[in-house]
Amino acid sequence: MRYVSTRGQSPAIGFEDVLLSGPAPDGGLYVPETWPLFDATAVKPAASYAELTASIVAAFAEAPAWRGAIERHAHAAYARFDDPRVAPLRELGPRRWLLELFHGPTLAFKDFALQLLAPLMSEALERRRSRATVVAATSGDTGAAAVAALANQPNIDLVVLHPKGRISDVQRRQMTTTTARNLRNVAIEGTFDDAQALVKQLFADQAFARAHRLAAINSINWVRIAAQAAYYIAACRTLDRPRLTFSVPTGNFGDVFAGYVAKQLGAPIERLIVATNVNDILARAIATGVYARGQVHATMSPAMDIQVASNFERMLFESHGRDPAAVRALMAAFAARGTLTIAPDALTSLRRTFVSDRVDEQETAATIRRVHEELKLLIDPHTAVAMAAAGRVAPDGDVVVLATAHPAKFPEAVEAATGAKPVLPERLRAIVTAPERFDTLPN
Ligand SMILES: *Cc1c(COP(=O)(O)O)cnc(C)c1O
Repeated sequence: MRYVSTRGQSPAIGFEDVLLSGPAPDGGLYVPETWPLFDATAVKPAASYAELTASIVAAFAEAPAWRGAIERHAHAAYARFDDPRVAPLRELGPRRWLLELFHGPTLAFKDFALQLLAPLMSEALERRRSRATVVAATSGDTGAAAVAALANQPNIDLVVLHPKGRISDVQRRQMTTTTARNLRNVAIEGTFDDAQALVKQLFADQAFARAHRLAAINSINWVRIAAQAAYYIAACRTLDRPRLTFSVPTGNFGDVFAGYVAKQLGAPIERLIVATNVNDILARAIATGVYARGQVHATMSPAMDIQVASNFERMLFESHGRDPAAVRALMAAFAARGTLTIAPDALTSLRRTFVSDRVDEQETAATIRRVHEELKLLIDPHTAVAMAAAGRVAPDGDVVVLATAHPAKFPEAVEAATGAKPVLPERLRAIVTAPERFDTLPN
């Protein structure tokens, strides 16, 4: 499988390079040149979650030399989850389910991709007798998942930038209490968008990027998206409905784009709800066609406090007929003026699959409270945003709400809304008292 840049001015590269790369040299993001043929019926009904994921990622690799490694690492990765179903579905009521994506080592869905990506990267480096420095910006959960996945990998160093004071204590402690020698945490005095912009600048300095062998594990890495497509397909297989809608709490548009990829691979997905908090650049873009940067507001769902959604570029590429010249023009306009306008046909095509809704803080808290009262269930604020959006945008129909984090990652918000304190699972208790290690730098 070859990968091309959304901006069309970088040479196509193969799976192994995509595994180790950041953005394309022309500033675009890599996407597969064509969609692979994926025959879901060839995956036997009794296949484990790891087997299903391996067959999807292998379809995107289309490299026989990688098939065995993908299977081996997928089995090891999902064996670390604390539920044998890996991504269990919980029925909430008539035609409503919660897809629990928080059973991995750091209790958020980022583990699905990173537990698999890290050993694959390490193996690719080993085959090349090389090393890499992974640089990541995190709005909270990517950093923790990256720390857990990359700790002590022999040929990778990791530097994580997080926005100082804008992530929860649990999220920060998951990163800063690590004792692994190959990891370094930096608190940036700014927002997530500032941290992400710094990472993009590092990659844009090509001499620097080459000298330090920079690699990315943000959702600009295609393999993350491919791995995440698996839980959409797994949910479709389990529920076996003719059409399903998924409601996805969205920040960088990576997770919901993985839903689009699952649809391209043949999953019976009718609609994808792009659920945002008050940082609603995506909701505005889908409603009006104008994608315009706004002010970032800190909310109780910090992983979505984003006003520039990297992966949306991939969707612009898809909806503009995979025309790199159109994407180049749009991204140039956005870089110059902080705003771009989606072409009318592209907007129509986008709206065939995506619908969006913005959920404010009060409604998020009310949803956490209501779910607790009605179902005796604690949900985290990100999940609550998706739940509230699903109730408004898709009152009928079969809807799966993605639960992207465990409520114990956001104890203050959950307790404020319900009066009940979520219990931190055993595997995370040690971080509460362990010493922290991080540097603080100006933006
Ligand atoms: C990262 C994250 C999101 C947003 O996912 P994107 O892929 O950035 O859209 C939502 N919820 C939680 C808990 C997250 O960690």
